[in-house]
Amino acid sequence: MRKKIVAGNWKMNGTQEEGQKLTSEIVNMVKDERVTDVTVVINPPFVHASNVKKLIGDTPNIFLGGQNCSDKESGAYTGETSAKILASFGASYVIIGHSERREYFKESNEELTAKVQQALANGLVPIFCCGEPLEIREAGTHEEYVKEQLTASLFGLSEEDFAKIVVAYEPIWAIGTGKTASSDQAQDMHAAIRTHLASKYGKIADETSILYGGSCKPDNAQEIFSKADVDGGLIGGASLKSRDFVDIIKSF
Ligand code: 13P
Repeated sequence: MRKKIVAGNWKMNGTQEEGQKLTSEIVNMVKDERVTDVTVVINPPFVHASNVKKLIGDTPNIFLGGQNCSDKESGAYTGETSAKILASFGASYVIIGHSERREYFKESNEELTAKVQQALANGLVPIFCCGEPLEIREAGTHEEYVKEQLTASLFGLSEEDFAKIVVAYEPIWAIGTGKTASSDQAQDMHAAIRTHLASKYGKIADETSILYGGSCKPDNAQEIFSKADVDGGLIGGASLKSRDFVDIIKSF
């Protein structure tokens, strides 16, 4: 049985007060509504880490994650946060290769490979993002494009390390646009991703959780999560509203 995961990516949103309020509400709803069969990950901006970790407390199925980590171990890299630091604050997951990081911060496949290695070396589960821009989707080469992203950054991993990876498929044209992929488009790509991963890692790919991201909301999550190869979601905008986020978590 693959793990069902819903991860909230706050991106660069939330003051201290807002972050605390949002986290407490999510934790309370998940507990009160007895949501126990889904792994929930909260990925706030780094400075929220301690607060969020404290508020999660001993809730067994809610985890702290980062939105990024450095490709370096430590040292004179002003403004960066290493996987080791993130782990020391109690994080369990880290998003790597989000399209916004690839685009605005010019993160290359080589850099992402190093980030995945740093995450794994420090006991963090990488949530590795892939996804195509609109022009690639329109040209019909989206499967090749995404496969290449996966090959470039993940196929050097040992089987043992690959088994720890979570993949998130986020078509760039669906992020923050209100235009979600149809559940069939998501399923087709997720199946193609799994087949590609299996071409290298065999049966281990059957156990890889593949999350969908891109304008996932309470009113479309159920349809998307019902698909055979969709194991959850990576949620942006809707993760900033506790009721919406928890409704998405409950959409399996
Ligand atoms: P939205 O849910 O706001 O479209 O963002 C998706 C995303 O980028 C999550 O990482």
